[in-house]
Amino acid sequence: MQTVTLHDKTFELFIAENAIQQSISALAVQINADYAGKNPLFLGILNGSFLFAADLFRQIEGNAEISFLKMASYQGTATTGKISELIGLNEDISNRHVIIIEDIVDTGITLEKIINDLIAKQPASIAIATLLFKPAAYQKNIPVNYVGMEVGNDFLVGYGLDYDGLGRNLKEIYKLKA
Ligand code: 5GP
Ligand code: MG
Repeated sequence: MQTVTLHDKTFELFIAENAIQQSISALAVQINADYAGKNPLFLGILNGSFLFAADLFRQIEGNAEISFLKMASYQGTATTGKISELIGLNEDISNRHVIIIEDIVDTGITLEKIINDLIAKQPASIAIATLLFKPAAYQKNIPVNYVGMEVGNDFLVGYGLDYDGLGRNLKEIYKLKA
């Protein structure tokens, strides 16, 4: 499919299925080399990362574990505004080698919040693997260790990424048509 329409918007093909899978294989090669014998704990951030997490984890060799977390947003007081909280962490991550799995890192605001919450639980190490990274939008100094593909500041859907709930089941990645 060259274009898809979701709700009121049209998206055009941007990254083909085989290009996505190739970049995931390349990430797995790096992670397998860096974490050999370390039994890393992967933490996928829902909802967007579920397909990437599954395809990446399938290619991890040796002992490895995976669990999933979610950022829940709720309205705080008038002064605190919107508050986001990391929910679903049942594992003891102290002294574990943690690899966060994200679909896309844009400004890095979400990532910073996740990292700060996890560092407080004293893992042995913490790294980030993201399928997509928007360097021009990134505002933080936290290194993004494993990047599948760098992209521009377009709004993307597909392969887990949604537009208002739709598009996650697309095998390719599409960008909003200008
Ligand atoms: P950040 O906090 O880095 O600005 O944004 C992170 C979150 O914003 C991502 O996990 C994702 O949910 C959403 N996001 C950022 N860019 C895009 C995009 O191009 N498409 C979609 N569907 N979501 C995006
Ligand atoms: Mg996300």
